[in-house]
Amino acid sequence: MKVVLKHLTKIFPNRTKNLPDVIAVNDFDFEIPDGKLVGLLGPSGCGKSTALNLISGLLEPTSGQIFFGENDVTKLPPENRGVGMVFQNYALYPHLTVLENIIFPLQNLKGDKKMTREQMEAKALEVARLVQIEHLMERKPNEMSGGQQQRVAIARALVKTPNVLLLDEPLSNLDARLRLQTREEIRRIQTETGVTTIFVTHDQEEAMSISDLIIVMKDGVVNQIGKPQDVYDDPCNLFVAQFLGTPQINTFNGRVENGWLYIGEDKVLKTTGISDQEVYAGIRPEGFILDENGPLHCRLSAVEVMGRDTSVVSFNDNMTGVSVRSIISAENRVDTSGKEVRFSLKPYKVHLFSKEDQKRLYFEEGVLR
Ligand code: ADP
Ligand code: MG
Repeated sequence: MKVVLKHLTKIFPNRTKNLPDVIAVNDFDFEIPDGKLVGLLGPSGCGKSTALNLISGLLEPTSGQIFFGENDVTKLPPENRGVGMVFQNYALYPHLTVLENIIFPLQNLKGDKKMTREQMEAKALEVARLVQIEHLMERKPNEMSGGQQQRVAIARALVKTPNVLLLDEPLSNLDARLRLQTREEIRRIQTETGVTTIFVTHDQEEAMSISDLIIVMKDGVVNQIGKPQDVYDDPCNLFVAQFLGTPQINTFNGRVENGWLYIGEDKVLKTTGISDQEVYAGIRPEGFILDENGPLHCRLSAVEVMGRDTSVVSFNDNMTGVSVRSIISAENRVDTSGKEVRFSLKPYKVHLFSKEDQKRLYFEEGVLR
């Protein structure tokens, strides 16, 4: 089922006295398509949980509307919206078995939705199979690993066949290996059930790896919505460019003069279509080409061999970060005897941003062809 948000806004009084109100969700106005897995992504405190709680009905909006399909659900209580929710801290009932935990949401169904014990157990077993915990039905939560507990929580969220599945940082409590495995599981479960899913995380890699669409937000405001690769390749502002990608995009203070980008005295790239001005120049790590005649001069610091790739760490007086990190194919042998390293640049891996509002400045050569 598609979810449509219309000018959805939530304002909280500030937790610190005498400070202005917090606009946790600021004019959300977009559609989440039916049957997709959408990653809601942004730094801690940007309003992700607030947005999710508005959609579930746990919070009431200050203004705006929420539609599930064609139905306005803005005033509906959570239990009538048909949402399944999973939180970071599983929130299972500790004294109940897995089976009883999963069945729990089915027990208070009324009218023609009321189920017999047998029907409930059959349904519980069906979702337990989906998340692959059918052999654990008699366990108590404290007799299981974190990953298993999180699967139980997902099964419980799915047992009523929700219209929308809402996941709020569901992997945060898992160790690194389990995180990777469980996120693949979530993708598989979502694909198998086809349930419209909103997956909240502050981890860009997590969101990029499993989402059909990502929504990048900051300070309550949606900055960009798109397919993960499209947003990575074509960020609309400096924040989005810096938030996506590891290692992070390398940012330099530069300037455009007569259609060319300068970093310091180096005339590094043709940038037709941008008027003369100071800019931020963001260069993706994979956008550097080792080139003994290349226009960008850096001071070599370290070469880290990583098997498939080589990471060249260098310095430049005009960089804004700690160091310049470039990823070079391992076949491209790096001469580490000198103190200097020179690069030419792949134009479509270079993004320029206005110094005034940090919005993207587009140049002809920067288009990916
Ligand atoms: P996230 O989930 O992205 O970390 P939240 O949605 O939890 O962010 O919070 C967004 C902002 O709203 C934060 O500044 C937070 O302090 C504020 N906030 C959240 N809930 C409340 C509340 N009940 N009262 C006051 N401020 C709140
Ligand atoms: Mg949160």
